[in-house]
Amino acid sequence: MNSEFALKKTGFSEYLVRCNGLDELGFEEWLFHPGMLFGALDRWWADGGNRAKPHEGLDLCLYRGLGGHNRSLDERTKIPLTYDGEIVKIDDDFLGRKGL
Ligand SMILES: [Zn+2]
Repeated sequence: MNSEFALKKTGFSEYLVRCNGLDELGFEEWLFHPGMLFGALDRWWADGGNRAKPHEGLDLCLYRGLGGHNRSLDERTKIPLTYDGEIVKIDDDFLGRKGL
């Protein structure tokens, strides 16, 4: 990992941690490669380079756990809803199929 950033805990990320039992594993903080933050212009996968457009999300998939060990979420991760509503589409994204 070339660079890591700390993200202030929010209600969403605290719930994500709690509903997946990460707090029981000693969750400490989210970790981000360059390109995983909102508005990033660089790619963190494959051979790097630039994105075609700024990143429109925030990739919560890596975290520091108990004892400073880096861990990643996997396909079993439960994603809490941010709003009431109905799910109308689920994309088959490579992050959903492949652990990091
Ligand atoms: Zn993303």
